[in-house]
Order: sequence, then structure tokens, then C-alpha cells
Amino acid sequence: MASSAVAKTGRDPFCMKDIIRKQGVHEGRHFTTLYNSKALTEGHSLIVTHRHIRGLLDLKAVEVKELFDMIGEVLPVILDTYANGDRAYDLKIRSGDASGRTVDHFHVHLIPRKQVPAKNGGTEHERIYSKSLENLNRPFIDDIENDLRMLRRGLMNPVPATRASAGVGSYTELSEDLRANIFYESEHFVALFHPKPVIEGQVLLIPKRDISDFLELSGKERMDFARTYAKIMNLLIDVYGDETRSYITSMQTGGYDNMPVDRLHINLIPRSKSDRYAGRDDDMYYHIYESPNLAPVMTADEIKRAVDSLRRLAQE
Ligand SMILES: [Zn+2]
Repeated sequence: MASSAVAKTGRDPFCMKDIIRKQGVHEGRHFTTLYNSKALTEGHSLIVTHRHIRGLLDLKAVEVKELFDMIGEVLPVILDTYANGDRAYDLKIRSGDASGRTVDHFHVHLIPRKQVPAKNGGTEHERIYSKSLENLNRPFIDDIENDLRMLRRGLMNPVPATRASAGVGSYTELSEDLRANIFYESEHFVALFHPKPVIEGQVLLIPKRDISDFLELSGKERMDFARTYAKIMNLLIDVYGDETRSYITSMQTGGYDNMPVDRLHINLIPRSKSDRYAGRDDDMYYHIYESPNLAPVMTADEIKRAVDSLRRLAQE
């Protein structure tokens, strides 16, 4: 995959061995899963690279494979421990100076979710994302020993990494509106321009099989996802990003009340220093899934032109 010039080691928390040792719950060859003491929800964990690199686009193929395997190992344990076994979770990645990320060292947020009834008119989704995803200024919470014990014990007997399901239907069952916005097809995925983007350049990657959970992807589909992701995200950054080459990825699984569709879809969003979410990055996570009063960012004609242009560029 494309790599960008970065320092080999940093002074950030994820380069500090004592933090990795203290908060680590599962260690692989290239990654460690950490329990996040500044959690948005109970069980909010991070997968961090051992190498000091910026983002998903900087991973080597062998690291991509281990990352997906590790997600497949730790996520079910986190969900069993914190989400009542509900297979509901958010997965977030951000990279680059304009992405809102606090630590410039690759990390994936795994955020278990529970269905909680709306309170005071606000939804659970709104409550969670009114807080900062990476509030690292909050003091370190010492009392995470119980969480560390539970997760480490759970991970001593991890469930199988791959739980590929048969899946039903196909992407041809997507609505006509969505299919019109497809600009690229890989073996197992389609890339389509979001019909109601929160920002210019918001794209969805959708598997051709009709499945609802990232954990249901087979090994082949995961590797195809990684290749397709890199191709499309680099393209979006070229077209919509700036010199910071910043981007975010957001995925929700589990049929929350704020989710319009229960079909797996992964948001690819290029960021720039002057975009509409600059300085209020966390609002974006709320708006991606719940934006009742958001004025349209692009007209239907603008979206059609963007689809035509990306279709051409993706073939080059
Ligand atoms: Zn680092």
C-alpha cells in the first residue's frame, strides 16, 4: 500500500511501552489491543500498531491481515463482555492533521454499543457522540483493573477469527438511487457516492453479499476490502483532500434506532483543514447517521457529476 513519510518512532502514548503493558489486553505480532480508559462507552478499546505509522493506508499487507484477524478475535469478546452479547458496535479510524485525531499513531476504535431507550428527547447515539472520541486530556482512570482482568481472561480462549456467513441477496437489490451512484466495483465490493453526504466526497463501500456485520466477511473479502479501501481512499484524498492527506472511516453495525439500513456499509470520508467540520470533528460522527435537519451539502446534479468523474478516475 502507499506509504507516507513519517518518523520511525514517536513520543506519543502508543509508542510508550509502559502504557502498552499497563492497558494491553491482547498482543499480536504487529498490533496490541488496549483497553481505553477514556472510553465513550464501557469496553471502548483501541487496536494500535507496534510501528509508529499514521494510518490504514500505511499498513503492509501482512499487517492488514493481522489487523482484521485481531478485530475478529477481540471484538466478539468485547461484545460478550460489554454489549450483553448484542452484536452492536462502532468502528472508527481517523488519520492526518485535518481528521481530528489526537494521537498521530495508527489506532482503530472499537466501541461496543447497547440499545438504550432515548432519554430527555435525545438518542443514545447523540449522547455518546456529544462527547469527544479522543478525550486524552481527561485524567487517566486508575480503576480499570477489573476491566483488564475480564478482557484478558476472555481473550485467553478467543473465538475463531473468521465467521463468514452465507449471506443472502446481492448488491443488485440495492435501491435504484444507490445503484446509480456506484462508480467502482471490485470482486466483492461496490463503491458508491453517498446519496446524502455530510461532506463532499463521502463514499460508501458495500459488500456485494447482503450481510450486516463486518465480522461476517470471509478472509478473501477482507483482503479485497483492504485493496479496494486503499484504492478508493487515495482517490478521494486526491480529489477532495488537501496536503495533510487526512481521512476518516466510520462504520456502525448492529441495527440501532438511528440506522436507516441494516446492511454493512463503511463510510470513507476525506478531510481537509478548511472543510465544514474543521474544529468540530466529533459532530461528524453524529451527523453521518443522524442528520435530520442538515441542509444538503451537494445538489443531485453535483453528485451526478462527482459520480461520473470518479468513475472515470477509478478506471485509470
Ligand atoms: Zn507512535
